[in-house]
Amino acid sequence: MKLFGFRGGVHPHARKERTEQLPIIRLPLPRRLYVPLQQHIGEPAVAQVRPGQPVKRGELIGGSVEWLSAPVHAPADGTVVEVSEFASPHPAALPVTTAVIEVSAHQTPWRVPAEDPFGLSPAELALRIRQAGIVGMGGATFPSAVKLDLARQHGVDTLIINGGECEPYLTCDDRLMRERGQQIVTGVALMLRCLEARRALILVEDNKEEALATLRTLCREQPQITTLSVPTRYPQGSQKQMIQSVLGREIPAGGHATDLGVVMHNVATAYAVYEALVDGKPLVSRIVTVGGGAVPRPANLEVPLGTLVEELLAYCGLEGEAYERLLVGGPMMGQWLPHPRVPVIKGSSGIIALSEAETRVEMPRPCIRCSRCVEVCPSGLLPLELAKRIRKEQFAAASELGLSDCIACGSCAYVCPAKIPLVQYFHYGKGQLQARRVQEKKLDNTADLAATKAQRLAEIEAQKAAAAQARKREAEARARQQAAEKAAAHEAEPCARTEGD
Ligand code: SF4
Ligand code: SF4
Repeated sequence: MKLFGFRGGVHPHARKERTEQLPIIRLPLPRRLYVPLQQHIGEPAVAQVRPGQPVKRGELIGGSVEWLSAPVHAPADGTVVEVSEFASPHPAALPVTTAVIEVSAHQTPWRVPAEDPFGLSPAELALRIRQAGIVGMGGATFPSAVKLDLARQHGVDTLIINGGECEPYLTCDDRLMRERGQQIVTGVALMLRCLEARRALILVEDNKEEALATLRTLCREQPQITTLSVPTRYPQGSQKQMIQSVLGREIPAGGHATDLGVVMHNVATAYAVYEALVDGKPLVSRIVTVGGGAVPRPANLEVPLGTLVEELLAYCGLEGEAYERLLVGGPMMGQWLPHPRVPVIKGSSGIIALSEAETRVEMPRPCIRCSRCVEVCPSGLLPLELAKRIRKEQFAAASELGLSDCIACGSCAYVCPAKIPLVQYFHYGKGQLQARRVQEKKLDNTADLAATKAQRLAEIEAQKAAAAQARKREAEARARQQAAEKAAAHEAEPCARTEGD
């Protein structure tokens, strides 16, 4: 199959050599798990448990009441000791509602479903995927069932499975493809059935030869599934770039992959679908690469969700905060963590503790207008112009220049010889635009409320006036009636006297 490639991109040092040959190890269950009820894009799940309540592994602890949401399950048998605010893996460690589970010494085994998932209808499969709380595992954390539902409604033809893993340091998807390829391929076949799509294309970067060979062999039995090798280039794993690589077509600005008849999921998401539908396990664990120069014994770990990052680091030989910078995800698109007392969640593909040598930051200098940032931007933007407008607080102008099409891949900042922190400008600009949108919505809501209130007051006044008019009319009618009765009585009086005399 012919590949088209994509515009721009960079070749950052892969830095995968310390973990790519390390098989996945299961991390022992910690004493306590801190399970946030918000682990996905969309509305948070709503707590279904209270302190003191015992829970079983896989039991629902957070229910999704909104369409764009995903339920959360207990990763282990234990007792809920607290449901309260706890730091999340976010640059500001924002607190979110979290169920704290004291883990039991004895764990019950999983109960494998008796039914064959391939006997289920597409709608039933989508429902099981929704109930299992599966979200995009590449870091985006979009609820997978919502994505599958939307794709089914649009009638997509092609399912693209992202095995790119182009971020430096991360090797969790590579190990998953090498060690659990059969489960991934079965998960992809189930997703195809759920979507009623014609074909699936699994894309793997050409620096993962063993993963490619493993999947290629397994896919021989599956004529609907094809494995493709794509050239190693960052940000290959990004949805727009991967679709462009395979189909040679761009998602239009403001459009979606489904507009092109395509939907994309990550290899780890396909594995989670397999676990849910074949093994009966909701999404309660994930594979995490623990790496970076500050980590003495890096690893690829299978981790129960809710395990604290400090426990992963300690398992890998790093105690306390003996690192220069801590990241969740890769160094290009990942987020900085202010401290390691935050839990691993569904989208945490890597925990990277960087050493001083890896984080040497040079002071930014003035732009020399070399246009290197323009050449590497995969979204076809003008990063230098965008940054200039944001620096001047001209957010509307930055928006007109396509700020919303920036995927925050960091390629421009990576090549900038003046070391200008371009992506930070773009995050700031997007944040400001979002805050303005929220403010405008609030103002619109306030104006709507004021108009509704004025209308309601006018209606009340009109009702009062009508009631007063009615009362006046009634009083006049009563007065007229009384006058008439009085007149009639007056006329009748002499006769009465005559009769009485
Ligand atoms: S790469 Fe850096 S120095 Fe060169 S034009 Fe872009 S912002 Fe300016
Ligand atoms: S402008 Fe945005 S999309 Fe373009 S290279 Fe920079 S971070 Fe990536």
